[in-house]
Amino acid sequence: MGTLLIRPPGHRRDVALRPAATAMVWLGEGHRHEMIAVPGVSLGDGDALVAVEMSTICGSDVHTVQGRRAAPTPLVLGHESVGRVIALGDEGALAVDGTPLRIGDRVVWSVTISCGACDRCLRGLTQKCRTLGKYGHDRVGAHGDLTGAFGSHVQLRAGTAVVRVPEALSASVLAPASCATATAWAAVARAGRDLDGVGVRIHGAGLVGLSAAAIAVEQGATVEVLDPNPQRRALAERFGATALEREPEVVIEASGHAVAAAIDGVAVGGTVVLVGSVFPADPVPLDAEGIVRRMVTVTGVHNYSGPELAGAVAFLGGRGRAYPFAEAVGEVRPLSALDEALAAASAPGAPLRIGLVPA
Ligand SMILES: [Zn+2]
Ligand SMILES: [Zn+2]
Repeated sequence: MGTLLIRPPGHRRDVALRPAATAMVWLGEGHRHEMIAVPGVSLGDGDALVAVEMSTICGSDVHTVQGRRAAPTPLVLGHESVGRVIALGDEGALAVDGTPLRIGDRVVWSVTISCGACDRCLRGLTQKCRTLGKYGHDRVGAHGDLTGAFGSHVQLRAGTAVVRVPEALSASVLAPASCATATAWAAVARAGRDLDGVGVRIHGAGLVGLSAAAIAVEQGATVEVLDPNPQRRALAERFGATALEREPEVVIEASGHAVAAAIDGVAVGGTVVLVGSVFPADPVPLDAEGIVRRMVTVTGVHNYSGPELAGAVAFLGGRGRAYPFAEAVGEVRPLSALDEALAAASAPGAPLRIGLVPA
């Protein structure tokens, strides 16, 4: 009889980090971030350790530190980064395309961590997994300390959609991919129709709205972007926006403030995609009769699936190169100046994104 070699279940690989990794821990509203040293991590099968090249501050990080969004503290915020794989669990880890990740791969990764086996994951709704984890959203401890983008390293857990990215693209283009660009990609897909020749209206010229404009234009749509800020409207033109002279068949609400206008403005038989990234927001009255008589579809989208993140990255490396994505990051600051960077990100006239780089 042969010998059966069985690995002990739950085996983990200990990785020492010299110098130690650092993470910026948020303790709650009104407190400055505390920088902690993380001298080592324990990688499970399917985990990967990534050294962060750049992370960017998303609007939802600003909302959290302002106390407008509940969060379990202590917490490492941040969920938009690009980095490089520096260690893998014993059994390795896979990219979203099914190929093995290798040390040195430059990658972006999903904000969500999914089991891949529950009913929702099996339906493709991995971002709504029954046992969902999220980078930058979960209390530190249970899964180590490197759980958010605002650190020198992030421990990617099995169930994360990891996408290899081209060396030729700048970190400023890639860091926001795992929130803004992938969400925009998912929002455009959620319209559920061929956009060739279709009129699209987008409410909100934040990075989701601007990205959605470029994506829809490249799919053949005529796109208008509505935003109260004239500078943002001018920027939207560089992302392909123009004037739409008819009722839009598709409306993407990416401002969080224009749900009623989005539904009122869509053409008969049209589709309204609600992305609104400034929730929690007050409920709006629903004109059910108008929706029925005009045969309107209203749908929502939250985050994105792994293939959608891959689609967004492919877009940025392909047709998306024609658009000024790199300009989204208006300034770059050291990670250690996170509190000042968050204050700057919430100031009037702030750039779309502020980048953070580890020391
Ligand atoms: Zn975000
Ligand atoms: Zn699941």
